[in-house]
Amino acid sequence: MKLLRYGPKGHEKPGLLDAAGGIRDLSAHIDDIAGDVLTPEGLARLQAIDPASLPQVSGDPRIGPCVGRVGKFICIGLNYADHAAESGMDIPKEPVVFNKWTSAISGPNDDVEVPRGATKTDWEVELGVVIGKGGRYIDEADALSHVAGYCVVNDVSEREWQIERGGTWDKGKGHDTHGPIGPWLVTADAVTDVNNLGMWLEVDGKRYQNGSTATMIFNVPQIIAYLSRFLSLQPGDVISTGTPPGVGLGQKPPVYLKGGEVMRLGIDGLGEQMQKVVKA
Ligand code: ZN
Repeated sequence: MKLLRYGPKGHEKPGLLDAAGGIRDLSAHIDDIAGDVLTPEGLARLQAIDPASLPQVSGDPRIGPCVGRVGKFICIGLNYADHAAESGMDIPKEPVVFNKWTSAISGPNDDVEVPRGATKTDWEVELGVVIGKGGRYIDEADALSHVAGYCVVNDVSEREWQIERGGTWDKGKGHDTHGPIGPWLVTADAVTDVNNLGMWLEVDGKRYQNGSTATMIFNVPQIIAYLSRFLSLQPGDVISTGTPPGVGLGQKPPVYLKGGEVMRLGIDGLGEQMQKVVKA
């Protein structure tokens, strides 16, 4: 299933993408694509619904973030060896973990802001993992059974604030609009091999990132098992799993967003995002 949320910001309705690419309204069955709806039992109830029985949504509504009421937005840093190299950092021995604030979450095609005073705003296409079944001390062998599905994430980053201003990376990761997720939450059963998905990102038509989840240092089961030793995971938590090479910081000379650009990014089978860059 491809689940999505559509409508004005803060008033999104739950929906499902039908086989013809049309949106069907799920709001008679669930209040949101969030929380317990994402558990194996919740998703099984949605699977049992015939999409043809759902009202068609007309027009071309805004697509919102594909998950509502996200409790935690956890990111893995430097998870691709080539990206660690272009960032001038060592390949990590253990996953690098940081947070994006949930207020950074936005729709896949919403504008992305260059924050006031920022000079090094950058992009990162990433595979997002949406937790379905919560848990802690999860075994690697069992980890994928905790996944509701996957989505595209743009881990938009302000490099000066991330790297040059002291403290943790979080200051440069959590600005409003810096966490587009979606367009769809593609349920895990509809993704054949999560560890082999092509991914790409373009700015103004120039392709900067062209990678695959196959070159992750820590794969999805390893990441889930690792995180669950430090914290409990809950339905609707989103884990962004790191970016392949080709970010602005890694260009020679570096290239950063100034405002006015258009970013396009996508992952095989998970859909595409498109964001206009604007000044805050
Ligand atoms: Zn990232």
